[in-house]
Amino acid sequence: MENEYLLLTPGPLTTSKTVKKAMEMDYCTWDDEYKEITQSIRRSLLRIAQVTPNEYTAVPIQGSGTYGVESVISSVIPEHCKLLIAMNGAYGERISEMADVYGINHVDLKVDEQQPVTADLVKAELEAHPDITHFAMIHCETTTGILNPIEEIIPWVKSQGVSTIVDAMSSFGGIPIDVKKLDIDYLISSTNKCIQGVPGFAFVIARKSQLEASKGEARTLSLDLYGQYAEMEKNHGKWRFTSPTHVVHAFAQALTELEIEGGVDKRYQRYSENQQQLTKGMAELGFKQLISDEWQSPIITSFRYPSDDFDFHAFYQKLKKAGFVIYPGKISMVPTFRIGNIGEVYHQNISELLDAIANITTKAR
Ligand SMILES: *Cc1c(COP(=O)(O)O)cnc(C)c1O
Repeated sequence: MENEYLLLTPGPLTTSKTVKKAMEMDYCTWDDEYKEITQSIRRSLLRIAQVTPNEYTAVPIQGSGTYGVESVISSVIPEHCKLLIAMNGAYGERISEMADVYGINHVDLKVDEQQPVTADLVKAELEAHPDITHFAMIHCETTTGILNPIEEIIPWVKSQGVSTIVDAMSSFGGIPIDVKKLDIDYLISSTNKCIQGVPGFAFVIARKSQLEASKGEARTLSLDLYGQYAEMEKNHGKWRFTSPTHVVHAFAQALTELEIEGGVDKRYQRYSENQQQLTKGMAELGFKQLISDEWQSPIITSFRYPSDDFDFHAFYQKLKKAGFVIYPGKISMVPTFRIGNIGEVYHQNISELLDAIANITTKAR
């Protein structure tokens, strides 16, 4: 058995013992009790999104988070339509790749990786391309940890008659998002981020009127969002193809634990405190945060290398030995590494991490 370590990565992340324990049985997918678990998960997700089942539905999709995004992009944008994608990192770029694969007309709004997407930039792009019908952006761009201001952008875009798609993969459940107030048509997230389940499926919070209008537009069979929705509605929580039964059970447990913690507001508070403790401690050790405080998310933090000769690989290995796994950087312009603070991670863990880093860096001197 490998040494146990704390995952300080933005998903898969460290889950609780009880979430892992929920996977210790085998389940039957067409059994009524099992299907009811899926239904209750769908209801919980709507509550977290602050929407009602009259207007919205929650549709799980097998696979990792990307499958959920791809399900939306490939299912709800009809052939004659045009998609504007605002991007300031790898996950925005991934949506553009999807649009290429499916031959969807798209305009890419590229923003510097260290800067947020702004309302002014989006407005200018929409004015320049009045034929745009759909808009997609990332909430927390996990590439850097920047938090894009969806509150200032999405309601305005929607008021222009444009459908709105938000990849809130790494923020949903960890940052409060009022989906109805923001006028989001499709929001995508997955099991293994802020809700603290294990990897295995994505889910889409979809405005029912829009989703139902997209019937027959899907470009694939297995990622057909309307298809999955229709089956779940008709058969009371039945997934179209083999459902990730153990993951579903673990996720139901993770949702219960989110509620016990005090809901999204409390989790947001814990993550924010983790993030602030981390940045402050790291600054004292000579590591600077990449993104300015104003745009820094409570989810994951990018740190600049402290010196030109900083050896990330050696640093990573030493930290792993001390019981912590962190993330390499993902941006091109500046050498960075990332530390996530979502998952079963508390004040004490961050203190221990900072001690371990202090140990490693003083020994290196
Ligand atoms: C994690 C993540 C995804 C999905 O990644 P997968 O590896 O497919 O789970 C998409 N968007 C964002 C912003 C993410 O953080």
